[in-house]
Amino acid sequence: MTFHGNQKTVSMLTRCIDNRVLPQSVLLTGPTGVGKSTLAIHLAKYLLCKERRDGSSCGVCTSCTRISAHEHPEVAIIEPDGDITKIWQLWTRSGHPAGALDTLSYRPVLGEWRIVILTAAHTLNEESANSILKVLEEPPSYVQFILCTTSQSAVLPTIASRCFSVPVTPLPTQAIASLLTRDHNVDESLAYELARGASGCPGRAIRAIDDNDMTGLRDRADRWVAEFLAAGRQHIYIHAEVLRNIVPKSSPDANVRQLVSKGLLAISDAFGRELLRSDANNLDSLIACVELSMQAAYTVQRNGNPQIVTEALVTKLSRKYHSK
Ligand SMILES: [Zn+2]
Repeated sequence: MTFHGNQKTVSMLTRCIDNRVLPQSVLLTGPTGVGKSTLAIHLAKYLLCKERRDGSSCGVCTSCTRISAHEHPEVAIIEPDGDITKIWQLWTRSGHPAGALDTLSYRPVLGEWRIVILTAAHTLNEESANSILKVLEEPPSYVQFILCTTSQSAVLPTIASRCFSVPVTPLPTQAIASLLTRDHNVDESLAYELARGASGCPGRAIRAIDDNDMTGLRDRADRWVAEFLAAGRQHIYIHAEVLRNIVPKSSPDANVRQLVSKGLLAISDAFGRELLRSDANNLDSLIACVELSMQAAYTVQRNGNPQIVTEALVTKLSRKYHSK
């Protein structure tokens, strides 16, 4: 797997990894959407890939695929919770899931490294930032930190001074356009248009594609819900089939799960919009439908099988709505 753009920077970093001289706390700086998190993940794969060669990881080994799916147990990818990276995300606090950094004192068992990626270090609040100063300064020998930030001045000076700072710079329009046509199935003219509006940041162009997709998804979800509400219980199998067309059919890897859960959330929203339009007599059923589809979305996010969850959802929705 190669990383596109910033070739000199990337080859400097991979050569450092080859020669085992990469500083253990790296701070990638650059504007939002420029590719810092993507680069951080690229480096994590490169560090752990057993088949890496010439600056590229293989992209297909267990380690690479688990990192792509954000499922590698020794690679913590920490994104802000809302606008802030909070202390409980880093260190275990009661009432929250286990903190990602609690395992840092244990040697890795799958590979040579435990890797911590903070996708937005500028969102660390003071408490979280202070809590990592010591470990950033003197990480255990097997720990690699990769922090991303919009600019060096956006993180506390005490953080920046402990890290090896690497700028990630905007890409030429043409490079973004080719990336969109090659990796995101966008036709050339749209790719060029999106690339021009992205100010050198491929992530912005990719988000624009997602927004476009979301509009389509929302329309399909609205139509599905309207048909579901209009039809009777006897049509449940047709509904299941239509819902299967909204959610993609393929092996339930992390990307598919994310897509399916987006689809189910769109269904939940569509029920919500129906609720706003509705008169009083079926409010309870509609509220139940909103909740059921939202629960289904979360179940899929938390590793539920998309096919089974959506089929069960149709049955439950039908029972709630068409039972009267
Ligand atoms: Zn690999």
